[in-house]
Amino acid sequence: MDLMEYQAKELFAKHGVRTTLGIVATTPEEARAAAEKLGPCVVKAQVKAGGRGKAGGVKLAKTPDEAFEHATNILGMEIKGLTVRRVLVTPATPPVEEYYFSFLLDRANRQYLCIASVEGGVEIEEVARTNPEAVKQIPIDPGTGVDEDKARAIVAEARFPAELTDQAVAMVLALWRVFVDEDATLVEVNPLARLDGDVLEALDGKVTLDDNADFRHEDHAAFEIKEETDPLEAKAQEKDLNYVKLDGEVGIIGNGAGLVMSTLDVVAYAGERHGGVKPANFLDIGGGANAQVMADGLDVILGDEQVKVVFVNVFGGITACDEVANGIKGALEILGDHETKPLVVRLDGNNVAEGRAILQELNHPLVTLVDTMDGAADRAAELAGS
Ligand code: GDP
Ligand code: MN
Repeated sequence: MDLMEYQAKELFAKHGVRTTLGIVATTPEEARAAAEKLGPCVVKAQVKAGGRGKAGGVKLAKTPDEAFEHATNILGMEIKGLTVRRVLVTPATPPVEEYYFSFLLDRANRQYLCIASVEGGVEIEEVARTNPEAVKQIPIDPGTGVDEDKARAIVAEARFPAELTDQAVAMVLALWRVFVDEDATLVEVNPLARLDGDVLEALDGKVTLDDNADFRHEDHAAFEIKEETDPLEAKAQEKDLNYVKLDGEVGIIGNGAGLVMSTLDVVAYAGERHGGVKPANFLDIGGGANAQVMADGLDVILGDEQVKVVFVNVFGGITACDEVANGIKGALEILGDHETKPLVVRLDGNNVAEGRAILQELNHPLVTLVDTMDGAADRAAELAGS
């Protein structure tokens, strides 16, 4: 789960990272009231995307009326396709210098990585392109992590100003606590700002929490903002389905994560022959492909307006093909008139003959049975592309 800036800052404060929490506002009036308390302030769009500053989502307000005006403009604004529903009002503390700092999980190298730069404030990818020397990448051994010595080494390598060394070391250690103690996969501060009077403070925060560790963090559930989650993903979550929304036209249902992943690939390849259609989602219904699970899965996928056809790709194992076929049959009955898009079904594996016979006998106008995975992917892509 990605956190909003104000949520990331709450975790920062909890672990001793110097930051200013500010006040969250959902209306221009609330922003004005916040500014009355804080004085000159910055009104900041809260969306789970970077580049808010560039998009006009971060504005300085000298007076409460100005805060009102900025909040009026920013609330409802779209940034990278996300609607702004709240702003964070923080005291205006103009940065003297802006740095960049992050810890992240480096999956490819099976370690953690620290990225630090004295050229912060702007997108780090941009700095990496134009001035790669200024972006330091420091590997972190997961076995030893970041202790005081390592923090000092990081600060030295990043070339943070000497007079800020002790503050920077404390900041690095505190950010490491956020990273480890909260089970994050990303902790990013941009800008890490040098303020007037040589104070080092996190002016922005981006944190990604590892959902797999949710069970040890009961308090993380509070970070979930219901109206911000994709409605299809929310529905899938409610039904305990392993669903990820993608950008495409061919809905996918399969059993087993590996099979579903390769189905996505096969559909993407086939899609190139049919006007560039793509898979619309990942959905693994796992072992128990009964009627209800199949109906729930289909229901979620059919709710995706982009979907034109659904490809059901099942390899019968412990749950044999005849059970899956009966599951599809039952799902069509449960869904009734709601099932309006063609289904391309490929069954193979345990009891495949029985499974195919059930669907042939059903002879449903929307169901096409195809024997091979490649053939079914091609048929599904063709239907979606026409
Ligand atoms: P982003 O563009 O989404 O990364 O949003 P940021 O929070 O990084 O804001 C963009 C820029 O606005 C920063 O680089 C700062 O220059 C400035 N800024 C952000 N927060 C504050 C703040 O609290 N006070 C002041 N004075 N400037 C800020
Ligand atoms: Mn930023």
